[in-house]
Amino acid sequence: KPRDKKDVMELVKQYDVKFVRLWFTDVLGQLKSFAVPVEELEMAFEEGMGFDGSSIRGFARIEESDMIARPDPTTFAILPWRPKEKAVARMFCDIYNPDGTPYEGDPRYVLKKNLEKMKKMGFTHFYIGPELEFFYFKSDKAPEILDKGGYFDYPMDAAEDLRRETIFCLEQMGIRVEYSHHEVAPSQHEIDLRYAEALEMADIVMTYRVVVKEVAKKYGVYATFMPKPIFGVNGSGMHTHQSLFIGDKNAFFDPNDPFHLSDVAKKYIAGLLTHIKEITLVLNQWVNSYKRLVPGYEAPVYIAWARRNRSALIRVPMYKPGKEKATRIELRSPDPACNPYLAFACMLAAGLEGIKKGYRLPDPIEKDIYHLSEEERKALGIDNLPGSLGEAIEYAEKSELLKETLGEHVFKELLNNKKLEWDEYRIQVFPYEIEKYLPIL
Ligand code: GLU
Ligand code: MG
Ligand code: MG
Repeated sequence: KPRDKKDVMELVKQYDVKFVRLWFTDVLGQLKSFAVPVEELEMAFEEGMGFDGSSIRGFARIEESDMIARPDPTTFAILPWRPKEKAVARMFCDIYNPDGTPYEGDPRYVLKKNLEKMKKMGFTHFYIGPELEFFYFKSDKAPEILDKGGYFDYPMDAAEDLRRETIFCLEQMGIRVEYSHHEVAPSQHEIDLRYAEALEMADIVMTYRVVVKEVAKKYGVYATFMPKPIFGVNGSGMHTHQSLFIGDKNAFFDPNDPFHLSDVAKKYIAGLLTHIKEITLVLNQWVNSYKRLVPGYEAPVYIAWARRNRSALIRVPMYKPGKEKATRIELRSPDPACNPYLAFACMLAAGLEGIKKGYRLPDPIEKDIYHLSEEERKALGIDNLPGSLGEAIEYAEKSELLKETLGEHVFKELLNNKKLEWDEYRIQVFPYEIEKYLPIL
């Protein structure tokens, strides 16, 4: 892995790189990319590359649209699916205003700012291990499946070569994979990444989505991270394992607790539980995200935590109980179509708020919450996640924590964008309604 500009200049020569793609993301986490020939690289490092910010969703207004992208040399990697001769590499960029100040609409900056706040509280690392699920379809026109496999199925699995090549590509880019398998739904898959620090992991998530899609394209199929492409089967989640470290000490670990969870971990979980409704707009940002968050498909609906219980929002995995490094919590609501920079920033902020304010953690719920009645849930004090994008917008709009975490600019842009989406959706008439109502009304 390169450490600085000098390392990058050497790698460029060594691997015959001709083009370097400069990557960043818009407010919704859609990747933006432009290529510079290698001759421009020195200049890109020295001065940054200018671009029109007003054409990027959630970025500048037209009257203040000149922005500068500055590549981060530590993110340099060759794109393995491009030619070996006159190769192509990529680097992630930080976005700046022409006066040299960081641009507050840049999601990468938002995450960095929140990591600074974490450091001020005495933690040094925020580790993230995401589990991104996705589907392969014949095309992007309809959810036509490639196989009828289920969880861990083999050989009823049409994608072994697809996953194999995807993993090779990820590894060539320096991204470590822990395991991969067919997921519960037909044509659904999962490739799990080894945990990394939040900023690096957000870059990795962006890369992962590109790699999965590029390899699929090569095989003539389409890969999607849409949260719920098929009614009646599991949707795609991005369970996010997380922990805070101080140096190489896991601040979530306490060998004497029955859950092996420290006081810090418990307050962090309490922070997530308390603020989850406000940050759900970021973790589940599309109309379709809420079609996944329904009972019965291993996706969370109810705001509770547990050890093994997969119907809970937060789980404390117990594969290797008592092992310090492996002690972590798993937040199960995020979906893989989120903006990972903003999503990680929001999770961290909610958790830190719990630590700062010393929130008390309620008891774990070890029962299957899907099968509790509404009264039983009420008696246990179990609340629901927002049920639609519209509801999520309402919680987000009132949230001081969210505004503080995202900064005024991103907060406003995100809300404006999501309100438009919700209004557009709200007024449609869907085939479901025609089938259901036309014959009887
Ligand atoms: N696909 C499920 C979800 O939407 C998760 C299945 C699993 O436990 O991996 O979150
Ligand atoms: Mg899974
Ligand atoms: Mg999981």
